[in-house]
Amino acid sequence: MMVKTNEAERILRESGIRITKPRVDVYDYIISKKSHPTCEEIYDNLKGSNPSLSLATIYNVTDRLVDENLLIRITAPNGERRFDGTLDFHGHFYCESCGMVFDYVIKKHHLESDSRFIYNNIDVMASGICPNCQ
Ligand SMILES: [Zn+2]
Ligand SMILES: [Zn+2]
Repeated sequence: MMVKTNEAERILRESGIRITKPRVDVYDYIISKKSHPTCEEIYDNLKGSNPSLSLATIYNVTDRLVDENLLIRITAPNGERRFDGTLDFHGHFYCESCGMVFDYVIKKHHLESDSRFIYNNIDVMASGICPNCQ
């Protein structure tokens, strides 16, 4: 019988992370939904199929995956801590109406144009009204 390995499990394995069901489920949720979820959103969506899952476990898993450079932690203007599995450089747009966080394309070299500085990290968080709410 073929055992189907999902994308999340494959990436965790290749990164040398021990496979546990919460790790695979949480990481899979983040990289497949692309909604920059909070821990609470992940919990609300996974607890139905996973009654033993706790919010504390999700905090631990997301912290661990940030440490392993598999997730980026972003802070929305309303203070929510959200998680992103898209590691290529991009900007974020926070909708002040619906609270969703969107990705958008932004050129990193434009943000590094002041040569006085050495850039180790750049976060771009714009805010306004998204297309769905206009
Ligand atoms: Zn919106
Ligand atoms: Zn993003």
